[in-house]
Amino acid sequence: MKRAAVVGAGLAGCEAAWQLARRGVPVDLIEMKPRLRTPAHESPLFAELVCSNSLKSNALTNASGLLKEEMRRVGSLIMQAADATRVPAGGALAVDRGLFARYVTDALAGCPSVRIVSEEVCSLPDAPAIIATGPLTSPALSDAIAALPGLERLYFFDAAAPIVTGESIDRTRAFEAARYDKGDGDYLNCPMTEAEYDAFIGELLCAETAPVHGFEEDRLYEGCMPVESIARRGRLALAYGPMRPVGLIDPRAGRRPFAVVQLRRENAEGTLWNLVGFQTRLRFGEQKRVFGMIPGLERAEFARYGVMHRNTYLHSPSILNERFEARGYRGLYFAGQITGVEGYLPSAASGLIAGISLARDMLALAQVVFPGCTALGALGRYVSSPNKDYQPMGIQYGLIDTPEPRIRNKRLRAERVAERSLETIENIRRALEEEIT
Ligand SMILES: Cc1cc2nc3c(=O)[nH]c(=O)nc-3n(C[C@H](O)[C@H](O)[C@H](O)COP(=O)(O)OP(=O)(O)OC[C@H]3O[C@@H](n4cnc5c(N)ncnc54)[C@H](O)[C@@H]3O)c2cc1C
Repeated sequence: MKRAAVVGAGLAGCEAAWQLARRGVPVDLIEMKPRLRTPAHESPLFAELVCSNSLKSNALTNASGLLKEEMRRVGSLIMQAADATRVPAGGALAVDRGLFARYVTDALAGCPSVRIVSEEVCSLPDAPAIIATGPLTSPALSDAIAALPGLERLYFFDAAAPIVTGESIDRTRAFEAARYDKGDGDYLNCPMTEAEYDAFIGELLCAETAPVHGFEEDRLYEGCMPVESIARRGRLALAYGPMRPVGLIDPRAGRRPFAVVQLRRENAEGTLWNLVGFQTRLRFGEQKRVFGMIPGLERAEFARYGVMHRNTYLHSPSILNERFEARGYRGLYFAGQITGVEGYLPSAASGLIAGISLARDMLALAQVVFPGCTALGALGRYVSSPNKDYQPMGIQYGLIDTPEPRIRNKRLRAERVAERSLETIENIRRALEEEIT
């Protein structure tokens, strides 16, 4: 049998390679690390989480939680790794990023039908292939993709939040608590009085930002809006956004603070903490100065500063079908953030669909299409449906078929969506598993 090429060993590429390999298809997994790295990747390992260590909600009544459960049921490697390396994070599924990446890397390295190739791919490989090179696809490959008729690129800007070391956080000021007591000391909270908040916003607004080539504010994705951009919307924009104090009581003051900066555990040991929602493009020196005004972070040591980067993605609706295969290029698939799905899990999910679909092509099996009543199917439908103003998108209920008759209560509706989706996934799982060698 021909070997399938999977280019890029990120969240999508690893999941795709795993799905091919477990169906007995020989795979070349081609990754340019560790020789070459994008501006955001640091580790030599596969499936690197470049910013937050959170994979979002784990609850079935949340679209992201539902997507996770569907992926678990159809044998996702990324979900297996996430469940095995999770760290406490309230209702969210957060992982120890080092252990997570190690788990995925070892699983693929130990897979007899996977051959790992360490090189940069600079031109489109022949089919059968899956391109999963992510939002920071290397320029040579990016140009090669754009040169193919119909494969126009788009882009927007994304930003990552800083990470500080646990020992440098002043615990006499920061307090442990999760919102509404969901979880057990999973977050540290730096409380601010109104005067401290105003002084902080004042400095944030006049802090110097790093120049980003071609940067335009309207090319920012709302979910990744830098704190300084949110602050420009109005004095209380942050207090109602990432710094909202709802569900938190400062035990020393005995009341809700005016505003809060939350720090989320990056690893099980609690040696690294992420400033939640504090994506930024401030210059590094300015991050130290301005974020040092946050009570508890006066002497914070930055393990990583926040950065802003360009995000490259295809206009998928005019290029891809719902299985992530390029129309008119048989056997050539795309997966991950380059297709316009947004976030770690949706990227892995698209890799799962592309991997299963390419394997079935190669094994001459009838295709399986995940229907729109499932989160997996909703993603495939989103990327492939006509859409002039196509924007990157994570998974959300708005994309999944609404149950009929319509249920007014939001929670009951979410429960019904989950129930219906998991019944459907169970049937698909059975059909898929029967054919696994
Ligand atoms: C700075 C930054 C912060 C982010 N923050 C978050 C966040 O907090 N939460 C979230 O959910 N998502 C975040 N994202 C989005 C995140 O990148 C995606 O969710 C996810 O990593 C995409 O998975 P992927 O597999 O498509 O790409 P990636 O995980 O980026 O993997 C792509 C792989 O392809 C390799 N590669 C690139 N070009 C080539 C080539 N020519 N040849 C061979 N290999 C190549 C890269 O080295 C990389 O290993 C962030 C992205 C960036 C850049």
